[in-house]
Amino acid sequence: MSEVTVTEIIALVFDLDDTLMLDSTSKFLQAHSIKPEDFWPRSYELLKQGYDQPSAYLKLLLDNVGESKPLGRLTNAGLRGFGETLDGDFFPGLPQFFDDVRNQVANRFKNIDVEFYIISGGLQAIMEGNKIVKKYFSAAYGCQLGEDPDTKIVNHIKRSITFTEKTRYLFEINKGIKQRDSEINPFLVNKDVKQENRRIPFKNIVFIGDGLTDIPCFSTVKQLGGQAFGVFDPTNPEKTRRALLEFLVPKRVMGMYRPRYGDGDELGALLRMWVFNRAAEIQIERDISRKATSNSSL
Ligand SMILES: [Mg+2]
Repeated sequence: MSEVTVTEIIALVFDLDDTLMLDSTSKFLQAHSIKPEDFWPRSYELLKQGYDQPSAYLKLLLDNVGESKPLGRLTNAGLRGFGETLDGDFFPGLPQFFDDVRNQVANRFKNIDVEFYIISGGLQAIMEGNKIVKKYFSAAYGCQLGEDPDTKIVNHIKRSITFTEKTRYLFEINKGIKQRDSEINPFLVNKDVKQENRRIPFKNIVFIGDGLTDIPCFSTVKQLGGQAFGVFDPTNPEKTRRALLEFLVPKRVMGMYRPRYGDGDELGALLRMWVFNRAAEIQIERDISRKATSNSSL
């Protein structure tokens, strides 16, 4: 009787802004003559009034929408159109990295697939409009703005992804819940799925992020058997300080690296090796269980 080998999936889950590219929301603001250095401090001021972080920046965005305001008659189609312009903004080594990792696994292993995901506090419509995101990523989760049904102009917050909410999407990826299904039924994530039946076990998941909003994802993935890599800009003293005190000292990540994904870059090489190593472990686990099955049938 021939054995059926179940395809196992390895998932690389990324934050977007400052991890895969420079901050996309800041670039969007600049494109409409809003200075990020004015916008973000105003957003942090709102936190003191009790706003949650994504609600604060989304409110300020919406305050700038309208006739004769900087964002004009902004629609989600307009945000997707802006996303299309970001293909050249990915950090060095991308998108070649995605092809390399997939090919490396496909050439050496059978029945092991690699998938890529984004969990971001940025705007989902911007990601949806981007060709590289559409081509390589199985899902990209982000904040959403709702539109006026007649004019299509965005006028309310539809979905905001806080730093702790980000972990929800890790569990959806883990349990194999499709993005479209969870959008219309957010309680799906609570579904009781036995560990052995989860589509992507946490030991097959690596999370890559740069910010304080990524800490719950780092911790969740690491505690449940996966791995976490941090990125930072070493030319920025404040980000370097944060990398040391918030990420490295508490051992939340395996290491902090510049966001460079070429095969000769530290992060690019380590991620390729992590995926390859995990695929080899899956192969060994299969061989062991196959031997155990054939021995027991003797
Ligand atoms: Mg980020």
